[in-house]
Amino acid sequence: SAAIKPLVAGNWKMNGLKAAASELEALIGGYDADLASKVDSMICPPATLVSQFAQTAGGSAVAIGAQDCHVNGSGAHTGDLSAEMFADAGASAIIVGHSERRADHGESNKVVKAKAEAVWAQDLVAIICVGETEGERKSGETLDVIKAQLAGSIPSGATAANSVIAYEPVWAIGTGLTPTADDVAEVHACMREELSKAFGDEGSSMRLLYGGSVKPGNASELMGVANVDGALVGGASLKAADFLGIMAAY
Ligand code: PEP
Repeated sequence: SAAIKPLVAGNWKMNGLKAAASELEALIGGYDADLASKVDSMICPPATLVSQFAQTAGGSAVAIGAQDCHVNGSGAHTGDLSAEMFADAGASAIIVGHSERRADHGESNKVVKAKAEAVWAQDLVAIICVGETEGERKSGETLDVIKAQLAGSIPSGATAANSVIAYEPVWAIGTGLTPTADDVAEVHACMREELSKAFGDEGSSMRLLYGGSVKPGNASELMGVANVDGALVGGASLKAADFLGIMAAY
């Protein structure tokens, strides 16, 4: 997938207060035109900061995304936030189906699919996450799990413009553990094949991110794997220096 421009997206999860805008400013400062020509960059802060960050990043090449949204556009859903609200706040993308949402909030493939449709309805990009658990990998079910998640979580109508797929092995998230380059290559080749079968040329050119303990020290190896078109980064996205260090892989 050499012709696909990579994306390095940061998922801040439930981290970050207003003062963390200094990290966003440092990122914008370090993300020069040369780097921006090689790799796209996005930060997904907690919902409370999306509007502020979108204003700070406005006019820069750093995109701002959100971490989750409700399936509905509005209504009686106390504490929930809609894709329309994030679009209004200045987000250009929303992560859906993160393993922490699937595990902590019981989100099924069906729910993830409905959320992706809600994201598209606002002309935003859906970053759709899949990944096997440690037990599933140990019992040799990884590719079957990934295929089922792709088939169940991605709505028909997915294009390279409206969707990014993130492969995040659950056991690699926040653990410092990563799959081998060969293991990543195997899963990403499988995803590419499945997406090409399902969505034709759009599936062949859709960005496939790897996520799970990506750091400056392992980014070159992981980003160099065939069919890996960037990274979804948790912990190492909180500090601009680390995030820029990951983007330096390009
Ligand atoms: C994530 O949860 O999206 C993630 C990749 O986290 P970390 O980089 O901290 O493993």
